[in-house]
Amino acid sequence: MNTQEIIAEGEQYLLHTYNRYQIVLDHGDGMYLYDTDGRKYLDFCAGIAVFALGYNNKELNDAITAQLGKIVHTSNYFYNEAACEAARKLVTAAGMKRVFFTNSGTEAVEGALKSALRYAYDRDGQGGHEIIAMRHSFHGRSLGALSVTMNDHYQDPFRPLLAGIKEATFNDLESVKAAVTDKTCAIILEPVQGEGGIYPAEEGFLKGLRGLCDEKDILLIFDEIQCGMGRTGTMFACQRYGVKPDIMTVAKALGCGLPIGAFLTNDKAASLVPGDHGSTYGGNPLVCAAASKIFDLYEELGILENVRSTGDYLYETLERFAKENKEVIGHRGIGLMQGLEFSMPVSDIIKSAQAKGLILINAGSNILRFVPPLICTKENVDEMAAIMEEVMKDLNA
Ligand SMILES: *Cc1c(COP(=O)(O)O)cnc(C)c1O
Repeated sequence: MNTQEIIAEGEQYLLHTYNRYQIVLDHGDGMYLYDTDGRKYLDFCAGIAVFALGYNNKELNDAITAQLGKIVHTSNYFYNEAACEAARKLVTAAGMKRVFFTNSGTEAVEGALKSALRYAYDRDGQGGHEIIAMRHSFHGRSLGALSVTMNDHYQDPFRPLLAGIKEATFNDLESVKAAVTDKTCAIILEPVQGEGGIYPAEEGFLKGLRGLCDEKDILLIFDEIQCGMGRTGTMFACQRYGVKPDIMTVAKALGCGLPIGAFLTNDKAASLVPGDHGSTYGGNPLVCAAASKIFDLYEELGILENVRSTGDYLYETLERFAKENKEVIGHRGIGLMQGLEFSMPVSDIIKSAQAKGLILINAGSNILRFVPPLICTKENVDEMAAIMEEVMKDLNA
């Protein structure tokens, strides 16, 4: 099939839940993607902050292929070595105690919410507990996760959602305190808001939340699905703030494209018992072999050091870009998770960049999101900046 035929087939048979770009991706290598017409793109999207190690990493491919030849699926009625190994590496890196593997981010959030509700139920012997979530948060599309995704556009068609969800304002501790009642069992937030527009938490806010949760016996849930796995230069974003959650969710880069997510708990929040929760595929050997190898490769390749140095360079580069372009009204972010806010929608910028061989995505209509693979170099940043300059020149022509 040629490119147009593939797109036509997709339009006919796929449910129309996305307005897709008119590009059919074929293969990738390192920081670059290639479409079915052989066009090459520098990738600053990484499949939405997923492909941390870049495309076609040979060692990762070999680990996945080796597992493929042994066993792909076992069910959770049995142990498998890859899951136990991945669990140890993830729990250790996160400084938590236990992990449950899921197939996606949204399922990780479901498990986190259930853990909090179960904890409070065990404590009080009754239900009706409340969870506080932040305006402009994003936690996923399944009904529980959607209930704490405080965005009317996503929520309105599907109401009523979970009962007992209270809203507070990100980086406003007083607004959280005002939402606390004696029914509150958890507070959920992203240490760096992703889809909502790349908003990093302030240190005082996270420390204040930790204090509030300790004082009132509320569980603190950090959704590290996008900002975790090294994206901000520490393995998990909360580690740069020195604040530990009771429950953490992880996905996206955890499998570098293989579908795996996880929720982790400390001792206190390890509330779920046999019969409370499960997953047919969750933690299957194939995805866990990938996750396990990814932790080794992060060390071997010095991923965190690279994110810190390239991230700083990206920050300087985008600061300069913001000063030189009057359409840019904001620049935020940490490490290789940054955003540029424009005074207008960025859809035309994204399309123009694509035509010039650069893949970027938005985070909200006016914000350009920069979330490249974590192997991104300073040269890649320069290459991106040169294309962006051309894009802005065309835009103003
Ligand atoms: C992407 C994302 C999710 C949802 O993950 P899926 O794998 O798409 O279900 C949840 N929380 C955050 C912070 C995310 O960025």
